[in-house]
Amino acid sequence: MEVLQIMEDFRFVVNESIRLGIEYNITSKFKLRSLVYPQFNKTIYSAYVFTAVWKASAILKNYRKAKKKNVCVKTPFMKRRIIVIDNQRYHIIHNHLKFPVRPRQFVYIPLNHHVSEILSKLDIKLGEVTLTENKVSISYSKNVSRKEPKGYLGIDMNLENATCVDETGKITVIDTSKIVSTKMKYREVLSHMTRPDVRIHKKIKQKYGVKQKNKEDTFLHQISKEIASQGRQVIMENLIGIRKLYRKGNGQGTRFRFRLNSWSRFKLQKMNNYKLIDCNGFPVIFARPNGTTSKCAICGCKLIPEKRRMMRCPTCHVIVDRDENASKNILARGLVMLGYTKPARFEPDAVQDEAMKQFKDVEQIAPNLLVDEPST
Ligand SMILES: [Zn+2]
Repeated sequence: MEVLQIMEDFRFVVNESIRLGIEYNITSKFKLRSLVYPQFNKTIYSAYVFTAVWKASAILKNYRKAKKKNVCVKTPFMKRRIIVIDNQRYHIIHNHLKFPVRPRQFVYIPLNHHVSEILSKLDIKLGEVTLTENKVSISYSKNVSRKEPKGYLGIDMNLENATCVDETGKITVIDTSKIVSTKMKYREVLSHMTRPDVRIHKKIKQKYGVKQKNKEDTFLHQISKEIASQGRQVIMENLIGIRKLYRKGNGQGTRFRFRLNSWSRFKLQKMNNYKLIDCNGFPVIFARPNGTTSKCAICGCKLIPEKRRMMRCPTCHVIVDRDENASKNILARGLVMLGYTKPARFEPDAVQDEAMKQFKDVEQIAPNLLVDEPST
């Protein structure tokens, strides 16, 4: 097909631009364009040479940034076949995306009802379109008026749940164990499956991968929609570096690492962020994660771990759930970032009730844990 041929050419131009950019050490995309354009405007429709050069210069920028940190970075190469069309070259006419393959010759791609409804809104500004072999992504921007947050919500994400606490101290636990168990199940199924032909095996693996990803995405969309619809300012942990904790070579088992890396906390953060901006006009606030679990939300002392995910504060003499404690710390940090100085720590009275309840629970579960221990 003609579009596939253009995709192939597009990839070729991008990779050639990368090569030339590295060879002549060009950092300006306009300089790169004037070098590349005369060579390739015959190979591919000239409008796509520009977008290919923009793409290449973006890749080169990332490459140079990575090279500063690590000298052994591989030379970049675009593997996927795509076309990037800038917003001057395509039109949306009668629920169809119309774009040129060569001068005065167009291809039409039908758009579904949902997409055409969103794009028909007046306040939308269209950006560039990216076509891959089985996907069309249309980027757009719109102005969202900023609403006043109805409250604040601190979220601590764990392996099997996400614990949310609002400004009144009310705690809601969102169960995410479904994601982990689904992923483990697919892993189990695939581990028993053997096919003599590698290509068939790969295909089956891909099929299960897509299924599992779809399930996860649906679930995450449900969670993030519910969170965003509350109209509260969401505060989450900054998770940069979390994967380092469970990497190969850390002396942990494969199964353990798989479990802990199994669900995409980043994806939930991303979804939360864009949905919150879309609904309310303010983004998620990311707080520093250091010590949120290990420090007491009431006094700030270091907590001592107890059984069943419980933590004991040696100063306040309370036993708290570690996830709830962490989410309260995250909320408090977020409030400080927002400029509130007062509620940086939870009011002892408000939380004592909550903590006392926990205390009772532990008393019922394991009374021997509560034998008076020397406080430090
Ligand atoms: Zn304390």
